[in-house]
Amino acid sequence: ANQARFTNLNAFVYLGDRALIEATAKAADINPPDETPLAARLSLAGRLIAIKDNICTTEFPTTASSAILKDFKSPYDATVVKQLRDAGAIITGKTNMDEFGMGSHSTHSIFGPVRLSRFPGEIMSAGGSSGGSAAAVASGQCWAALGTDTGGSVRLPAAYTNVVGFKPSYGLLSRWGVIDYANSLDTVGILARDVESVESVFDQLNVYDPQDPTSLPPTKRSQLGFSKKVNTRLTIGIPLDYNITTLDPAVRRAWVQSLHYLQDCGHLLKAVELSTTRHALSAYYILAPAEASSNLAKYDGVRYGKRADGIDGTPSSVLFAKTRGQFLGAEVRRRILLGAFTLSAQAIDNYFIQAQKVRRLVANDFNSVFAEPNPLTADPFDVRGVGVDVLLCPTAPSLTPQLAEAMAQGPLDTYMNDVFTVPASLAGLPAISVPASIAEEDQSPKLRELGIKETAGMQVIGQYGNDGLVLEVARQLL
Ligand code: GLN
Repeated sequence: ANQARFTNLNAFVYLGDRALIEATAKAADINPPDETPLAARLSLAGRLIAIKDNICTTEFPTTASSAILKDFKSPYDATVVKQLRDAGAIITGKTNMDEFGMGSHSTHSIFGPVRLSRFPGEIMSAGGSSGGSAAAVASGQCWAALGTDTGGSVRLPAAYTNVVGFKPSYGLLSRWGVIDYANSLDTVGILARDVESVESVFDQLNVYDPQDPTSLPPTKRSQLGFSKKVNTRLTIGIPLDYNITTLDPAVRRAWVQSLHYLQDCGHLLKAVELSTTRHALSAYYILAPAEASSNLAKYDGVRYGKRADGIDGTPSSVLFAKTRGQFLGAEVRRRILLGAFTLSAQAIDNYFIQAQKVRRLVANDFNSVFAEPNPLTADPFDVRGVGVDVLLCPTAPSLTPQLAEAMAQGPLDTYMNDVFTVPASLAGLPAISVPASIAEEDQSPKLRELGIKETAGMQVIGQYGNDGLVLEVARQLL
């Protein structure tokens, strides 16, 4: 019923064959079993899945919402796209995003901002950078969507649009054919309206890809997987350092409600300290731009991307500067400059190296609170048996902001939206955002009148490779 209210979202930037999509969507209700016997055996048969526009597809252009890649068409499908097609999914189209994944509100796009509107006249932020994917799912324009999550870009939009958004452990899903932003953090993520749908897409994509050098090899994969199940008594960690003073009281109350709910399900609650959390955001905004400045150097008008007019024959410094100045957006240019500075000889020790150290401390912090050791770094004899199975915290410090309010934010205020999502990214851990109802007294009267329940995103974070348990706890919460 909620779907009818969504209009004019600017969620898609390219759309697939309309007749096919409409026919399939219709057929989904009827579900005739005998018509397509082969397709019926495929796990994602006839599922409409939207793809963020920084993931390569042969069928549509792939622009990362950047003018420098305008009209670029990839000669190949990304591995994740091929896997979806092989499983019978139909690619609905490409979704709007912040240019190259840099942003938290899907406003930095050559296609204009994504607009979340649940009733006429309302324009909210859909979160970013995978805001188009989230809005497409929230409005029922697809069954699931792929996004990318470098520092929260799947989880934050999921939280703002009242859907489920999952960032798997780093290295599980192939990044081959996914346009790099900060490759040591980049992860393909999945958005859908329920955890079951997210899981069925994840199961399809969670396969070793020899074409991606950071794909976790099969020998390591076989060591993942944990014994505990959600129907046993789990210990849920409450990271006290996430209870920051700027946390919206409505989000805090929703967090407490969710914790009580898990307690009522029979789980134990345990407060934990993750003291380096408060430095994670600064470290992220050093590391991600540093990697971006290197990854985006190839868009220079010679190797990749468009070239500015009238500069052929000029020295390369002029050609590069004109091209990049003309075709890269302000936020992308800011990150490239920031990254080039923090990697420069005079600044690297104070910025980049320090941030790498903080990143290690954040990872150590997580390892010190989880009951399970980290399978990538741990001593195999380190059997602890104490500690927590998963952590529960909010996904974002506020409820969904108005688009105008989001667009008025300066860069630093925008970065603040990511404060709860970047720690798990720095540590490469699986994390999912699920919508949790906010308390009755916090619901806006207008939305209540319209029968719309307001939610806040709650984030479940697990130990590396413990993606299955994270999904199970999420399912219990939803
Ligand atoms: N908002 C964060 C950034 O701008 C995260 C983006 C992402 O995860 N792609 O870097």
